[in-house]
Formats: sequence, C-alpha cells, structure tokens
Amino acid sequence: MSFPLPIRFAALTVSIALPAALTSGCSVAPQTQSGALTSTSGAPTVEASQPAKDQDGPKETPMDRPEELSLTVTGDVLLHPQLLDEAETAAGKSDGNGKEFDFEPLLAGLKPYVQDADVALCNLETPIGTPPYSGYPLFTVPSQIVSDLAAIGYDGCTTATNHTVDAGTKGVIRTLDTLAKNEMFYTGSYKSKKDSEQPPIMDISGVKLGVVATTYSLNGMRADSDWRVDTGVNSLKLIDRAKSARKAGADIVVAAVHDGAEYTSAPTESQRKLGRALASSGEFDFVYMHHTHSVLPIEKYKGTWIVYGLGNSVAKHATPTILNREGISVKATFARDGENWDVSKLQWVPHQLSKAPVAWCQVATTETCVSDADAKASLQRTLKTVNAYGAVDDGLEEWILP
Ligand SMILES: [Zn+2]
Repeated sequence: MSFPLPIRFAALTVSIALPAALTSGCSVAPQTQSGALTSTSGAPTVEASQPAKDQDGPKETPMDRPEELSLTVTGDVLLHPQLLDEAETAAGKSDGNGKEFDFEPLLAGLKPYVQDADVALCNLETPIGTPPYSGYPLFTVPSQIVSDLAAIGYDGCTTATNHTVDAGTKGVIRTLDTLAKNEMFYTGSYKSKKDSEQPPIMDISGVKLGVVATTYSLNGMRADSDWRVDTGVNSLKLIDRAKSARKAGADIVVAAVHDGAEYTSAPTESQRKLGRALASSGEFDFVYMHHTHSVLPIEKYKGTWIVYGLGNSVAKHATPTILNREGISVKATFARDGENWDVSKLQWVPHQLSKAPVAWCQVATTETCVSDADAKASLQRTLKTVNAYGAVDDGLEEWILP
C-alpha cells in the first residue's frame, strides 16, 4: 500500500498499525435539518464527500439507504482578535476574497479532512456580532467565518458553549440566522421555544443522525429563557434527550459536550464519569467533547468511543502555549447492522496552529505548514495524550487522506 503523502505515524511506535484501506464513503447527498430549518421551505442539500478509493459507490439497501455514514467532528472555532486582523489582511491580498475578512488561508489545511466524510460538524464557540468585534471575555465575531466554514465543506455546527450568550439573545439569534442563511445545521441554542423542542436530527439520505449538544455553563451569565441554550452536564438528562431523539426517528445518536478543565491533558473526574455514563447507557453511539483548548484522551468504554477533548480547531490565545495551539480532528464511520448502527472505524488526525499568520497544519505527514521539528514534537505529544487510555490498542486508527 502506498500513500500520496509521506506519513509520520508509523515511525513513532510499533503499536500503531498502518491504516487500513478506506472503505467508507457513501455517495449520498446529505440533507441538513435543524429545528429552524425544518420550519422553512425545505432542508438544504449539500454535496457529500466522494472518497477517491470508493469508486463503486455505496452498498445500498433495497430502500436505498446507505450502509455507512462517516462523520467528522472538530474542536472549538474560537476567533481571537488577532485572527480577525489576519483575515482582514488576507482578504485584501491579490489572491484574497476581496471581502472584509477571508478565513480561507486559516482553514485551508483542514478542508480536505472536512471533505473526507459524509457529514462534518464544527463547534462554533462564539456568537456572530456586528462591528466592532470583541475578544475575551465577551466575544463577537464576523459572519464571514460561517460562510467560510460552509465553503470548505462543513454541514453544520453545535452552538452550546460557555460563550453562547456573550452577546445576549440578539447574539444567539444572529448566529443562528447566519448558520441558516448558509444552509448549515445547528443545535445547542435556539431562536424559539418551538425550535428548542424539535429533535436535533440531520437527515442524510434517509439516515437520521441525532446530535445532542450541551455546555457545562454560560460563564456565569443567564440566558433569557431556560430553553435558549442546552446547558448542564447531567448524564440522566442527556440520556433522556438521546431517547427522545431516537423516538423521533434518529438511527444514530451522538453527544457533543462542551465541558472540562481548560489547558489540561486529562479529563476531570466528573467529565470522565459523564463520558462513561453516556457511553454505557446504550443510547449514544459516539460521545465527543470540546472546550478545554487542549487535547484530551480518547477512550473506548464498553464498546463506545469517547473523545474527551478535541482541542482548538482554530484559535489564537493571548497567551499561546503549545497545548492551546494543538488539536485533533476525528472521523467516526458508522456501519449499519440490521437496525442498529455502530462505529466501525474511528480515525484521528493531529494538528498544530502555526504562529503568524495562524493556519491549521496537520502534523501527521511530512508535508505540513509548520516546521518538521515542531510537527514531530506535536505528533508525539498529542499521540501520548490521545492514547493515555489505550485507544490505539482498542482500534483507533490514524486518518490518512485517500
Ligand atoms: Zn468553551
């Protein structure tokens, strides 16, 4: 087997297997829906990824429903002021988009990974605002980030974070309107009580993916209504919501939890307990978390994968440390077994955010946008964290693009 890019993974440790041939990839056209979108004139359709090695297309049931569904999840999109300055500079360059902001150079490295799955979800940490935009502690960011996320292939975002109400109810509504305008699925915060009561389900050519989002807090602030943002990290409540999603027709249910202690390399005790409770409930097929701005381990618990911390997807903290410049992206492939769906393959790719200008740079291959030494160190450090609970021996695979 040969790979288009030289890879680093195999050289690190003998316990890391070379990747199996990619067999996933449904030639389907996902339809994204959210509570808000379903109330409009129909769900938007987006192009599905077409993995190069799957020329024969998907196996289909007599009902033409795919046998597999791949989902990419990535960490926090946290736009600090320096990223806005850089995007403004990029927009004005001869190859820029000519608009006020251009986030394409920041996101370019991530694009092929986002497109290598049937569905991709981001975590939009901060609300969309109007000029002048603001950074920590109360963020507002330009709407261009949402169109640029959509342009590289994201199908939706979760919006329950500790910054969701940084710009009040207006900020929540502006954010959701921006996502809807870009035909993006969203869940985690809502425009109306009615929207909050809709099951958070994406429909991908007949496969229904339920996404149960929540945040541990709203940074000490209160939303104007209890239903405005999905809050709380109570396992029983989350399990109840998963049951409701299944009742509403979800074939697959995932948990997207915003929780943890910032800048750490291990989950807190309560976070691990929560992850394990969700995993062992039988109601969630996959559990993933974000918020800590650092990578945390991946664990397979009682047959269900838990990703405790994806780290930052894109960010530029006022005090940059190597941990808040690193993150991982994860691709979960779900396979149908009768009426049940399970994760048949879990893949990950580590990245480092370059310093200036900031760009998302994978560190799994030698063709990357940070220095070779930085990439090697990042990969080693991240692998050690990710594998702290034996994920590699449990089947976690590296994610090499076809
Ligand atoms: Zn957060």
